[in-house]
Amino acid sequence: MIYDVVIVGAGITGAAIARELSRYKLAVLLLEKEAEPAFGVSKSNSGIIHAGTQNPPASVKAWLCVEGNRLMREEIAADLGLNFVQCGQLIAVFDLGDLPELEKIKKEGEALGIKGLEIVDRAWLDEREPNLGPEVQAALYVPSAGIISPYRFVYALVENAVKNGVELKTSQKVSAIRRGADGVFELETGGEKHNSRFLVNAAGLFADEISAMAGAPTFKITPRKGEEYLLDKKREHIANHIIFPLPTKTSKGILIIKTSDGNPMIGPTALDVEDKTDLSTTESGLAEVLSGARRMMPSISKSDIIAYFAGLRPVSGKDFIIRHEDSVPGLINAAGIQSPGLTSAPAIAVMVAGLLARHGLPLEPKAEFHRLRPRPAHLFQVPLEETCRLVAKNPAYGDIVCRCELVSSQEIYEAIKRGATTLDGIKFRTRAQAGRCHGGFCTTRIIKIMQEELGFPVTAVTKRGPGSELIKDERK
Ligand SMILES: Cc1cc2nc3c(=O)[nH]c(=O)nc-3n(C[C@H](O)[C@H](O)[C@H](O)COP(=O)(O)OP(=O)(O)OC[C@H]3O[C@@H](n4cnc5c(N)ncnc54)[C@H](O)[C@@H]3O)c2cc1C
Repeated sequence: MIYDVVIVGAGITGAAIARELSRYKLAVLLLEKEAEPAFGVSKSNSGIIHAGTQNPPASVKAWLCVEGNRLMREEIAADLGLNFVQCGQLIAVFDLGDLPELEKIKKEGEALGIKGLEIVDRAWLDEREPNLGPEVQAALYVPSAGIISPYRFVYALVENAVKNGVELKTSQKVSAIRRGADGVFELETGGEKHNSRFLVNAAGLFADEISAMAGAPTFKITPRKGEEYLLDKKREHIANHIIFPLPTKTSKGILIIKTSDGNPMIGPTALDVEDKTDLSTTESGLAEVLSGARRMMPSISKSDIIAYFAGLRPVSGKDFIIRHEDSVPGLINAAGIQSPGLTSAPAIAVMVAGLLARHGLPLEPKAEFHRLRPRPAHLFQVPLEETCRLVAKNPAYGDIVCRCELVSSQEIYEAIKRGATTLDGIKFRTRAQAGRCHGGFCTTRIIKIMQEELGFPVTAVTKRGPGSELIKDERK
């Protein structure tokens, strides 16, 4: 079979493009090298739906971020049943001498169409952010910013794209790309071959390699590492907004981040590294994050930290690379999707669809596009009365598997039904194993449910795909 479009990479960029293309009468294949979508950069970020401030106003990413934020607030969160929380953002200054800088960010934001920006003084802040330290003097209030679970955002897009006819194939690493005499791309993934008229490269950190394989070695991706530190849920209400300091040249600085699942987070650092697999956290990263966060909120302490991770931003120059490669007709690169890629993805998807159309792909809308996705129930997100109603309807909601995060067996069943095949896939969809005990209590229960539901032998259960099995068969 020849697909109309093959998309390489099921992170937020590829997932959003797949969902956008699923509106049209097209045969689309989404290929992912990992065992599940969202296992690349899109799983390790701050989960902020940025308003669009702090980007160079003339950049592509600036206007895509503003448009992505609008799409989230006005359409996508409601359509896909996402828990988007519009908590707003503050950009704090420690010296009133920096007010002109805030004024500049405000003016640039307004020029991009960001609404409601306001410079606020210490009295305003005292009323709304009682835990701010004495050094903070004033801030820019940005009401349209918010927070979301990044992986559940990816899963929702993929699920909806598949519902609308997109084919998803995981554990399919693209290792070679050839071009037939008829111009059709032939992608090799281990033992399989996939043919397509158009190729969309959304391979994150590896987008430079995919573009080169397709015949366009036109850019290089350099990973920019960001270390993040998650705080205990008991500090959930430490901040009411996402709090930023004034940005530096290469990063938005160390933030205090509300997350949509409750645990606040502090970070990220920003350090260019060579190795695309280097996800280590460091003593120096921890020290930088703690001192940056404590300057804004001195009550944050090292003992609040319950988990940490690092993510790698796929950086190529200062902007996103979203273009048709004229030297390889039919190849669209959606590459260098550094921050704010999570926010921008829905707008990137619209732009990529436009590029495909301009280069010869007819976009004919489907008569029946399923725009809506039912919102999965998560006990940790609902009030007690709703929990009682769910348990009365289905007792499996009362069978608690993960005590730290209040996750029931019904939520694990639901996650498996929606595509989870690994322990991380279950964690990212439900939060089971994400609490203080890191799965010490619930992992064996989850493994048992996976065995029963997926028909796996216990030795085939993995954390994140082949090579991460938990239980070894000594007879082999
Ligand atoms: C620390 C940190 C904090 C951030 N915070 C924010 C934030 O708060 N808000 C925001 O908007 N943005 C944020 N970002 C940026 C955001 O996370 C990225 O822009 C976004 O996740 C990039 O998504 P992607 O789909 O392009 O890449 P990925 O998520 O990496 O997806 C690419 C996919 O391609 C697959 N792939 C690669 N090679 C192959 C191959 N050969 N064959 C098949 N598949 C392949 C990978 O496995 C991967 O799943 C942050 C980034 C970091 C690192």
